[in-house]
Amino acid sequence: MKKKTLFLLPVLTAVLGAYLASNPPWPGQTEAASSPVPKYIFIFLADGAGITHMEITRQYNRTIHNEGLTIVDRILKEGFLGLLTTHPADSLSTDSAAAATALACGCKAKNGMIGICEDGHVPKTVMEIAREKGMRIGLVTNSTVYDASPAAFVSHLSNRRLYSSIIDQYLRLEPEVLLGGGRDRFLPQSQTGSRRNDEIDMIVSFQKRGYSYVSTRKELAETSGPKVLGLFSLQEMSFEIDRNKELEPSIYDMTDAAIRILQQGNRNGFMLFLETENVDSAAHLTDAASLIRDFREFDRAVALAYEFYRRHPRETLILVTSDHETGGLAFTLALKDLSSKAGKNQVAGTEKDLKKIQSISISLKKAGEILGPNPTPESIDRLMKDHFKEFSIAPEFKKAILEKTLISRTIFSDPTANALGMIVANNTQGYWLTTAHTNHPVFVGAMGVGAEKFRGYQDNTDFARHLKVLLGEKPS
Ligand SMILES: [Zn+2]
Repeated sequence: MKKKTLFLLPVLTAVLGAYLASNPPWPGQTEAASSPVPKYIFIFLADGAGITHMEITRQYNRTIHNEGLTIVDRILKEGFLGLLTTHPADSLSTDSAAAATALACGCKAKNGMIGICEDGHVPKTVMEIAREKGMRIGLVTNSTVYDASPAAFVSHLSNRRLYSSIIDQYLRLEPEVLLGGGRDRFLPQSQTGSRRNDEIDMIVSFQKRGYSYVSTRKELAETSGPKVLGLFSLQEMSFEIDRNKELEPSIYDMTDAAIRILQQGNRNGFMLFLETENVDSAAHLTDAASLIRDFREFDRAVALAYEFYRRHPRETLILVTSDHETGGLAFTLALKDLSSKAGKNQVAGTEKDLKKIQSISISLKKAGEILGPNPTPESIDRLMKDHFKEFSIAPEFKKAILEKTLISRTIFSDPTANALGMIVANNTQGYWLTTAHTNHPVFVGAMGVGAEKFRGYQDNTDFARHLKVLLGEKPS
């Protein structure tokens, strides 16, 4: 018996060797390589999400739905937790372009720049390297597909607003999956809703390269690829709280489809970037209810990747992070009324306040649209009764809405949304410091192959550096 086995050994070794030569275990790697390389890489980006956004969603899930939060309960508890700096090259607080450039390229950039370092150097992005290794790649966002965060992973431009050039660069790289909003910059200028300055139909250009084009939730669920362009709205996609669930896919639906499409005929793995822009957009509008609903849906998308990881634990890397915090949100002690600072006049946010937030039925953006350009005292009362029935409105905020006056130096976006946001805050003790980005460090959750590299306090440029090393590039 023993003799027989020994005789078979060289044969088995030769067969295994031949198999590994034609099927390397990981992209760009031979059997001689020393450390494992992730074959499937998920990069989840919650734009504008700070630790407090995550924490309030965790508490909301537990209190209102008796559910956990996958990002905390699975990714952070079973994987590794790190903190990333967020500042760009030229200021204390970043925009999404400079932050995404750091995460995608590994260098500090100036605000507004995409895929170009502060010194003018144009590095390869992690996704371009993944493509060179033969991996399939995908970009998914509920913003416009040409928005700064996804753009910084595959394109290089000195100005984030050169949208047509970003789309041209997408076409050059041909990601197998490109899903999100922003049909306006794909349609020729003669078509309704177009914001192009020429007659080029970019949807047709993609179709000529073999892309299937989809524009509804149903079409997305039914498409089989192998390459898919999905544009589900003219500009940004809807907040989860407002979404037409028949027509528009959520970030969960798009993640589900992207995984299915990228896995088809796939030998070399994939890198998939998935972004919820809506957390940032909600925070810019001081909209706690929209923020929580969108963070919940984003977390459901992360849960899909976690299930994928459970099926491929030795080949998968999941990264969940953010580019910066927006809004300085905090649930805090407040005064019931402004008449006294006495202890009995103080109030802190509780479960009851989360239930009040649950009762809000539309986003503050939608509320502004309902009120229109000329709100009246009656239309404000009707809005409150229809969609904010648990909330009372203080006279000064009603006045601010009617007169469209800003209520703070740090509140500079939409006066109506901000006044409504302050009404929600005054009724729930969930206050906002600003409507802009802050300099808070952001969390990074990492799980799977190479995840340990992301733990601890790091610069946001380290995120890309680790990914590049994991993809087999020399450390820079
Ligand atoms: Zn923002």
